[in-house]
Amino acid sequence: MKILCVTAHPDDESVFAGGTLALLARRGAEVGILCCTRGEGGEAGEPPLAAREELGAVRSDELRCAAHALGCGSVDFLPFRDPDIGPDNTLYAFAGSTGDVVARMEACFTVMKPDTVITHGSSGEYGHPGHLLAHQACLESARRTGVPFLYSFHADHPDHPRKRSANRNDPADFVVDIGPAFEQKLAAMSCHRTQSALFVRRASAEAGHPVPLRDVILRLESFHRVFPRGHLPPDGRDIVSLLGEFLAPLRRGEP
Ligand SMILES: [Zn+2]
Repeated sequence: MKILCVTAHPDDESVFAGGTLALLARRGAEVGILCCTRGEGGEAGEPPLAAREELGAVRSDELRCAAHALGCGSVDFLPFRDPDIGPDNTLYAFAGSTGDVVARMEACFTVMKPDTVITHGSSGEYGHPGHLLAHQACLESARRTGVPFLYSFHADHPDHPRKRSANRNDPADFVVDIGPAFEQKLAAMSCHRTQSALFVRRASAEAGHPVPLRDVILRLESFHRVFPRGHLPPDGRDIVSLLGEFLAPLRRGEP
């Protein structure tokens, strides 16, 4: 089974789906990462670990390191530049229109022929315009190229460990207890050295108290099936059947 995780920036794959990607790879799936940018406009670390003009190359290497830790076989990049963060920490999307991204992404899907694509949620997690753009372009590209299954990560459910950033309009279809892959996820997150201060700051702000790096890592990862909806085809090619005993109980009802 070929699984492709499509993200806006290096680190999104580890933060939102790292444990699940590692478990899928362990189960024999061929897991790849397609990243729309090299994270050129993001943070460079505290203290800075790279000059601004080198940040894209450094973060590309960080993503390759994380992919290796997770057992992912391929890392590819679309040629979009992550724009610098604006005044008052304003975040921007990495391309002018969804159409610009779809053209590139569609070409990749046609060559890679993934059975399943996993990407950002419909609210862009914490509303990041780059995450929203990646989600929209991925949805369109997957439809156009006939990708059988499309999932979004950080889906909402009553026991979500980070309620404030959960994608409110994406009810979780399954939740993964990534415990057996925790050390791999920790290793992958640690590869993103330029981003570790940001991980701690963001998680602490969301929790309302200081959170150490180890506790930044989500032990439950949740996914929404964008399509197909309704009953799954009974051919067993879905990632849910591959994850088996790693699935955690999912409480339904009002989040
Ligand atoms: Zn991101």
